[in-house]
Amino acid sequence: MRNRLLVLVAYALLVGRGASAQTPVDSALAAYIDGIMAIDSHAHPMLPVAPGAPPDTEYDALPLDGVPAFPLQARLRPDNAEWRDAQRALYGVTSSDTGTAYRDALASAQRSVAQREGDRFPSWALDQARIDIMMANRIALGPGLAPPRFQWVAFDDALMLPLDTRAEAARTPDTRSLYPKESQLLRRYMRDLHIATLPRSLDAYVARIVVPTLAKQKAGGAVSIKFEAAYLRPLDFDDPDPALARRVYARYAAGGTPTHAEYKALEDYLFRVIMREAWHHGMSVQIHCLETYGGFYDAAGSAPHLLEPALDDSTLRGTTVILIHGGWPLVGETQTLLAKPNVYADISAMTLILEPAELARVLRQWLGEWPDKVLFGTDAFDNSPTYGWAESALLGTKTARRALAMALTGMMRDGDITRARAEQLARMVMRDNAIAAYHLHLN
Ligand SMILES: [Zn+2]
Repeated sequence: MRNRLLVLVAYALLVGRGASAQTPVDSALAAYIDGIMAIDSHAHPMLPVAPGAPPDTEYDALPLDGVPAFPLQARLRPDNAEWRDAQRALYGVTSSDTGTAYRDALASAQRSVAQREGDRFPSWALDQARIDIMMANRIALGPGLAPPRFQWVAFDDALMLPLDTRAEAARTPDTRSLYPKESQLLRRYMRDLHIATLPRSLDAYVARIVVPTLAKQKAGGAVSIKFEAAYLRPLDFDDPDPALARRVYARYAAGGTPTHAEYKALEDYLFRVIMREAWHHGMSVQIHCLETYGGFYDAAGSAPHLLEPALDDSTLRGTTVILIHGGWPLVGETQTLLAKPNVYADISAMTLILEPAELARVLRQWLGEWPDKVLFGTDAFDNSPTYGWAESALLGTKTARRALAMALTGMMRDGDITRARAEQLARMVMRDNAIAAYHLHLN
C-alpha cells in the first residue's frame, strides 16, 4: 500500500514537472505583464452615441463599407468563440443562444452598459483592457474621446490627392468607393481653412492648404498622422521630380484628369512634403502596412520594402515612422527596416489576426534585434453587430499580453535574458517604446 502510494506520488511529481516544462508562460512574468497599463499604438474607438442620434462617421478616413464584401481572416469572423468570451467579460452576456436570440441579448446588454457609462464608455472600455492611452485614428475626436486617455492620430492621404481622382479610382471595385472619400475629406480640410477652390500652383497649394492643415492638426492635439495609402496605391513613393510635380499640378488644378504616371509623380512629391511637415511639428507618421483589407486590395503594393526609398531619404530622417500592423505577414521585411533609426513597427491588427503562439514567434524574432522598436497595438475597430471596438480592444490586449509572456518566457528559459530584462522588455513593448515613438509627455 505504502509502496503504491510512493509510486503514485512519484508519478504525480513527474507529470507535474512534465506539465510545467511544457507550460508556455512563466506565471509570475505573465502576472507582471497583465499589470502593465498599456499604450495602444493604433485603434479606431467610436464616439458614444445616444439612442436616436446620428451614427459616428468619423472613425476612419477610409471606412470600408462601400467596398464589395470580402472575407475576414478566421480569427476575426463572428464564429470565433473568443468574441463571446469578450462579450461575457465586458457585458455579462451569458446567453448560450445562437443567431438573433444571442444578438438581441448582446445588444440589450451593450445598451445598458452604454447607458450606465454615457460619455465615460470609451474610458471604461480602456479600463477593462488595462489600456492607459489609446492612439485614436479618427477624422476628429469628440465627447468621450479626449486626452489624456485618447490621443489623436489625423489622416493626411487626402492632401496627396488634390486633382481629379476618377481615373485612379477606376483601378478596382475597391478603390472606386475609397477615392471619393479622400476627395470629401480634402474638401472638408479646405472648408476648415475657408478656401473654396484649389490654388493655381503647387507651391501655393502646399503653402495655403497642406502646411496649414498639418498645423491645425497639431494645434488640435494630434500626436501623429496616418497614411492609409496602401488601400489606394502601392507604397513605392519614389524620389520625386519637383518640376514634373509642379507641371502636373498646374495643368490639372482647374480641371481635367491626370494620367496615372502624372498623378504618381505628384503624390510622390506631396508625400515627402507632408512627412517633412509632420517632422516640423514633432508628429510621428503611421503607415498602414498589412496584407489586406479588401477583395481587390493590392497585397504586393503594401510590402514594407517598397517604402525604402522614402525611408532612406535623408531629408526625412527626422520624421518618426511607425509601420502599422507590422507589415504582417512580411515581418522579415519589416525587421530589416527597423535598422533605420527613425522606424518603428506596431503589432496592431496582428493581435487580432494571429493566435498568441504565432504572434509570440514574431515578437521573439523582432525583440532579439530591435527591442526598442516594437510597439503594442490593437487596431480595435467596430464590427457591429458582431462585436464592437471595446471587444476588439479587450481581445487584442489579451492576445498581446499572452504572446509577449510566451516570447519572453522562451528567451528567459533559453538563458538569453534575465527575469529583470524580461520585465523591462515587457514594459518597453506595452508602453515605453510608444512614449518614445509618439513623443508623449506624460506627467
Ligand atoms: Zn486601423
